[in-house]
Amino acid sequence: MVCSCDGRGVVCEGLMMYIPFGRAFTSGTMAKTRKPALRVVPCNGCTLCCQGDAVRLEPEDLAEDYLTEPHPYIAGALMIAHKPNGECIYLNERGCSIHDRAPSLCRIADCRSLAARIDFESAKKLHLLGRMDIRVWDQGHKLLAAMKTQGTGKKRSGKLQ
Ligand code: SF4
Ligand code: SF4
Repeated sequence: MVCSCDGRGVVCEGLMMYIPFGRAFTSGTMAKTRKPALRVVPCNGCTLCCQGDAVRLEPEDLAEDYLTEPHPYIAGALMIAHKPNGECIYLNERGCSIHDRAPSLCRIADCRSLAARIDFESAKKLHLLGRMDIRVWDQGHKLLAAMKTQGTGKKRSGKLQ
């Protein structure tokens, strides 16, 4: 499987998939959604998405509302600033300190969709390219597995009734 970079994202030829920079799991529906709802991922304290990611600002995000820095891969674009250790500037010990006004890409981030769309080998390649954190893929994979187990449990209890 071949992965190549076009300056704005990664093209996975084997998967016939284009993954834009900023959030590896950004969906194409973003452009159509002016005010996306907050994600409903059961993060339960996980903050992997906020560690070293390049969260670019979308047109609907007001740059003056955020601390930003130039995006490393997209000319002219801005991303949320980082602490010296690479974490998002807004991440604190309680999680996102701007949860109610987090930028658009944070609102749609869902590691489960990433794990559902990309197999482990592809995820590993993107990780080695520095385009994705394999830990995020792994977390999505775990959540999907948990959902599957819960679904099976419901079916079983249904049969018993
Ligand atoms: S990796 Fe998944 S569970 Fe962790 S913060 Fe991101 S979306 Fe939430
Ligand atoms: S703005 Fe909040 S949700 Fe988005 S990366 Fe930073 S800490 Fe995480």
